[in-house]
Amino acid sequence: MNTLRFKVLDEAFRRKAVQLPESKERLTDYYAKYVFDRNKMQRYLSKNTYGILINSIDKGEPLNRSIADGVATGMKQWAMEMGATHYTHWFQPLTGGTAEKHDSFLDYNNIGGVIEDFSGKLLAQQEPDASSFPSGGIRNTFEARGYTAWDPSSPAFVVGDTLCIPTIFISYTGEALDYKTPLLKSIGVLNKAAVDVCKYFDENVSKVTSFLGWEQEYFLVDEALWAARPDLMLTGRTLMGHSSAKNQQLEDHYFGAIPSRVLAFMKDLEIESLKLGIPAKTRHNEVAPNQFELAPIYEESNLANDHNLLLMSVMKKIARRHNFRILFHEKPFKGINGSGKHNNWSIGTDTGVNLLSPGKTGIENLQFITFMVNVLMAVYKNNALLKASISSATNAHRLGANEAPPAIVSVFLGKQITNFLDKMEVASTDEAIIFDDKVGIRLGVAHIPEILLDNTDRNRTSPFAFTGNRFEFRAVGSSANCGGAMMALNTAVAGQLKQFKTEVDALIASGMLKEKAIVTVLKKYITISKPIRFDGNGYSDEWKIEAAKRGLDCETSVPKIFDAYLSKQSIELFKKTNILSEVELHSRCEVKWETYTKKIQIEARVLGDLAMNHILPLASRYQSLLLDNVSKISTIFSADEAKSMTEQDRAIIKTIANHISEIAKKTTELISARKVANKIESEREKAIAYHDTVIPVMDELRSHIDDLEMIVDDEMWTLPKYRELLFIR
Ligand code: ADP
Ligand code: MG
Repeated sequence: MNTLRFKVLDEAFRRKAVQLPESKERLTDYYAKYVFDRNKMQRYLSKNTYGILINSIDKGEPLNRSIADGVATGMKQWAMEMGATHYTHWFQPLTGGTAEKHDSFLDYNNIGGVIEDFSGKLLAQQEPDASSFPSGGIRNTFEARGYTAWDPSSPAFVVGDTLCIPTIFISYTGEALDYKTPLLKSIGVLNKAAVDVCKYFDENVSKVTSFLGWEQEYFLVDEALWAARPDLMLTGRTLMGHSSAKNQQLEDHYFGAIPSRVLAFMKDLEIESLKLGIPAKTRHNEVAPNQFELAPIYEESNLANDHNLLLMSVMKKIARRHNFRILFHEKPFKGINGSGKHNNWSIGTDTGVNLLSPGKTGIENLQFITFMVNVLMAVYKNNALLKASISSATNAHRLGANEAPPAIVSVFLGKQITNFLDKMEVASTDEAIIFDDKVGIRLGVAHIPEILLDNTDRNRTSPFAFTGNRFEFRAVGSSANCGGAMMALNTAVAGQLKQFKTEVDALIASGMLKEKAIVTVLKKYITISKPIRFDGNGYSDEWKIEAAKRGLDCETSVPKIFDAYLSKQSIELFKKTNILSEVELHSRCEVKWETYTKKIQIEARVLGDLAMNHILPLASRYQSLLLDNVSKISTIFSADEAKSMTEQDRAIIKTIANHISEIAKKTTELISARKVANKIESEREKAIAYHDTVIPVMDELRSHIDDLEMIVDDEMWTLPKYRELLFIR
């Protein structure tokens, strides 16, 4: 084996699990230790300030300046007791990840000394230099002002010596430059639209909350191996690598015990997450070797999303403490399962009802069916938009591969709900229908019986599946900010519920009984939204053909998928719900196209460099070794003997020669494809050029390199191979 590679492998092999200090603390003792949660607010704020703040959080009412001052004082006192010397507004730019700019509490005290100061003004608003964050043309660099503004609904927390304040990020002219602003707006609009519909069933409902429970998948790779793979280091995925003889066929990883080094990492991670108030609950191996998952208890969706982003940054840090690197890329290894981030989504009332869970009484079930059918309609009408919300250069490798949902959005409902909707569709609004051979249902008077759901009726291939009391949006990528997908979903559902209410109210106004009006509209929706329902195998090729026939969006080119944000329908939806203006939608798309291009551009450069600096030199070195052998044999043996003795080597020499010349040719082609694409002005057209002309060359280049990996002497191969990256931990 190559000495360099051996050294790296040896280092990785010898690592022991990090010993965690023994602690007798119970998790309830340290849960949310670093969070300025309601308990601490109560302790550090005056009764009046506390009352007004909580009211504002619960009801979404604005806070005035004097309250902000009161909160800042208490928050600072708590943070300083926790050892904080700095504070930062913590926000979510469109580049992905989170951003922060630290300032210390330091200020002059006007008598020649300094004090630690933190006012309501500093809490409420900060002005980071926004020029280096993408804005998609809203703000040119001359006008670098953007604001971050405090989001009181997500509690502040301390990381190290810094008090972190969750904030939104908007331009000087008020346009959203982040994921959080539209997410918060969509939560508010969905609340209003859903409460209005709930009033048909229960006058007491005054708030509807959307919940999110994400499942974060990730890979772990030993840090030494990671550092020996420039592609992993710079792009987050392997740009080359022949599949390992053994990978996930035996599924022994999925069912196996968690390796001790990984377990130590997970334990450490959980403790750290819990201290930050992230309710980490589930940990397990995933399908691919070295792939794992962490899921928390679900929370209100804005908070859940903040927690996911916080967790991702904590994971990176803890991984390093255990000499691992964490891979959030959706497809770090070709031919191996990719990583997603299933978004479990539900909506619930302040009266304690989960609107996506069947109830016990007829009226509760009519309410359940109402929300179910409206979600179906929302997903049906906006299937292209929802796909755009989860699409990215990185997730594109996962979608449509053989283990992830295809690049087509459909909904899985399971047998029972499907049967029910089928019956409801054809039943007369006054007629009694039989459901599950058991109970009579009189739709007209909303006598829908108890619906007992069979939770085992599951389909793993659906991008959007009903799982008994929630929908699971599985197409979301592991590296994504869930806010993008959740915002699109909330908006689509809110827009749909508004539409529903308008139609039902019109029927009621014309004299129809309320329940009958509701059922009449639902029956119509059941028929219209039928094409989105698909319970079959989403991985199959037949589904792609069928989906196209049904008129679902089947576009697979990511830059073109983004167009769905700018369709007439999407622009109207976002305008009607007041969540994003047309300018903001355009700017978001610009950023998406730009990011897409940059990602592929970096990958193409790294691949080209590796081809020239690693692969070609080692291939020709091996080739000349073989040539040497052939020529030596030829000098000693007779021509006939030599011919048969060197047959194998000569064939390999030819194959290598062919690969070498192709690799050289493709590398040049790659450079010129990039050059042509880079000259294109329009971000959309540029991204399309990268998709259409750069990616195919990268794929060809890779296939030559992967073939070489199988031929060249293992001794000479410098880059850690798949079997090493995937099986050493
Ligand atoms: P599975 O892998 O079977 O889908 P997991 O336990 O890994 O299940 O993840 C389920 C996720 O769904 C968890 O984050 C859980 O908190 C969340 N969840 C459960 N009920 C709801 C709900 N009503 N609304 C939103 N999320 C939910
Ligand atoms: Mg799940």
